[in-house]
Amino acid sequence: MYCARGCNCVLAAQKDGILNQARSFLATCGILAICCAALLVAHTGSAAAGNLKPESNSKAVAITVDDLPGAVPGRGSWQAVGELKDLQRINQAITGILKSHHAPAIGFVNEWKLQVSGERDARVELLQWWLDAGLTLGNHTYTHASLQTTPLDQYEDETIRGEVVTRALMKAAGQEEKYFRHPFLMTGPTQEVKVAFEAFLKERGYRVAPVTVDNDDWRFNDVLGAALERQDKQLAEKTRAAYLAYVDSAFDYYEGVSRSLFHREIPQVFLIHDSELTAECLDELLTRLERRGYRFISLDQALADPAYATRDLFIGPEGFSWLIRWKLAFGQEADWQNEPDPPEWIVKMSSDIRRAKQKH
Ligand SMILES: [Zn+2]
Repeated sequence: MYCARGCNCVLAAQKDGILNQARSFLATCGILAICCAALLVAHTGSAAAGNLKPESNSKAVAITVDDLPGAVPGRGSWQAVGELKDLQRINQAITGILKSHHAPAIGFVNEWKLQVSGERDARVELLQWWLDAGLTLGNHTYTHASLQTTPLDQYEDETIRGEVVTRALMKAAGQEEKYFRHPFLMTGPTQEVKVAFEAFLKERGYRVAPVTVDNDDWRFNDVLGAALERQDKQLAEKTRAAYLAYVDSAFDYYEGVSRSLFHREIPQVFLIHDSELTAECLDELLTRLERRGYRFISLDQALADPAYATRDLFIGPEGFSWLIRWKLAFGQEADWQNEPDPPEWIVKMSSDIRRAKQKH
């Protein structure tokens, strides 16, 4: 099903005169090769899954935290750098909780939020806290750019500009920066751009950091931010409780997708943000995951599972879980619309808050 869709895209592009003949021939060859590889991987993935007997207590999850050194409520991460004192409080709490649960997490950085006059050293120090806590870091572009709307050459510049401080800190700590997380989980508007950017990443020593348990925690963070601002303790408590229940439903859902694709529960990669919400809920959230039978592993360990060799064949303007993307490699529909949504009141309040902030 996907092969037809991919090839139609190339034919349409040729018709529109976007690609010259030589380029479209190469692109078509590339797509055919990718489709064949996908069928092969999907096939071998299923075979491998069949051989692997699920162990009891085999649940594992890598915690990945986006938008360091802080995701500000009510605004996109690309729009606000946040107050230093808030970021210090949030990062101190989050790194402490991760350490206390022995969760070897990774934080993905937008370095433009370090560039605040008079605060540069103090903001870089926030990243150092992560490394000092035995955690690791990755690249999330300089300004949280979208590959959907940013031309490829500018997006590559965003990636290079986004590694300057992080790579130096990691090198001094004896670590190597090796993961890239696409902002908005948008992996490219066309096959050509996606493949070209992945080749660029490989050349610079990066691997794409996928997400399997996706969620809209940023919406809860917006509502929590508004509740704290107006000192509405009841709303803050209601928001925290709704978020924890929502995370439970997200795990229910993606565990189910994992079982249906791989006949077992693969190691999950969970996305959360470096936010007030996470600072306040992470201890309870990790405790609930432990009760659910999870142990915490690094992204390296998660991605060593053969399931992660499955090709991501999705091309389009949406950003969603790799478990849903991988359905394409299994000849199924990428039904991202069925992913669990936050409660309606959270969606509405968050949308209203964002609209109001845009006006000011
Ligand atoms: Zn992000």
